[in-house]
Amino acid sequence: RAKDEGGGGHFEYEPALHSNAEERRVLEFSLRSALEKNEFVLHYQPVVDAKTEELVSFEALIRWNSEEHGFVSPAKFIPLAEDTRLIVPIGTWVMQEACREAALNWPENVKVNINVSPEQLVEPDFAGTVVRALSHSGLDPKRLEIEVTESIFMRDANVARKALEQCMALGCSVALDDFGTGYSSLGYLRKLKFTTIKVDRTFVQGAAQNSPESLAIIRAVVAMADSLGMTTTAEGVENEEEAEMIRRLGCNKIQGFHFGRPMPSEDARKIFRNAAAGARKRA
Ligand code: C2E
Ligand code: MG
Ligand code: MG
Ligand code: MG
Repeated sequence: RAKDEGGGGHFEYEPALHSNAEERRVLEFSLRSALEKNEFVLHYQPVVDAKTEELVSFEALIRWNSEEHGFVSPAKFIPLAEDTRLIVPIGTWVMQEACREAALNWPENVKVNINVSPEQLVEPDFAGTVVRALSHSGLDPKRLEIEVTESIFMRDANVARKALEQCMALGCSVALDDFGTGYSSLGYLRKLKFTTIKVDRTFVQGAAQNSPESLAIIRAVVAMADSLGMTTTAEGVENEEEAEMIRRLGCNKIQGFHFGRPMPSEDARKIFRNAAAGARKRA
């Protein structure tokens, strides 16, 4: 082993590598039983119409409260779940849970956005999973938008594309998430008729800081989406200045802390209850 060779660089970085692998192993062990221990919950973040600020959808975002590790960020455990394929059963749970919540507790004009990993899409029966989640919950397929990133085109691109096309044939829509951060190739936009392009928060931030490149990129993405018959959503809008800028650039929908953080299902339901109570009062 590098350690025993007594030479130079190896010695210094090996312990760090080791603890990283160790951390993953420990986390993976807990992740394996997290579903049956009911440690996952979904939070929901509003997506609003850029012009009217009306709520058009909630994006489901998974949260893991682990008995052993406390709260673990999805940025940490989703990649691990993908590497171990645990994302397949976890993703099926997310699909069922989010569809059920939307069908049972939200008005019919509010959609649900669900993130799906490439590993889920290349499972032989991904569309079947969607069909079952829809039929068990009674959710209208038109209310479901599946979010994928460009990484679905990295391998088994045809399998992933066919799975998404099956979902679109059911009436679901598909959003291209985090656009601009991956190996963005415009060729991807030809391969699948996405409903929505989600412009990544890094461009929103850049544009707010007067980066001419970020501004130009958002403008170009909006124009391109328009000509392709796709809509745009700006991610990570944190204040009124950013919202105003995004409106001026012509994005159709906005998401971000300024309009609402991801919240527990109960808080999301309260929004509808309060709106209904307000409407009764006015009547
Ligand atoms: P994403 O799908 O791009 O989700 C947006 C992320 O940005 C969320 O982080 C959200 O909390 C955060 N965000 C939203 N608005 C703002 C803002 O104004 N400012 C800032 N700083 N952040 C904002 P979160 O919940 O930690 O999720 C991270 C990623 O984990 C998601 O990115 C998605 O790729 C993945 N993920 C979450 N839930 C699921 C899931 O159920 N399945 C799969 N496969 N992936 C998931
Ligand atoms: Mg997303
Ligand atoms: Mg995103
Ligand atoms: Mg993002």
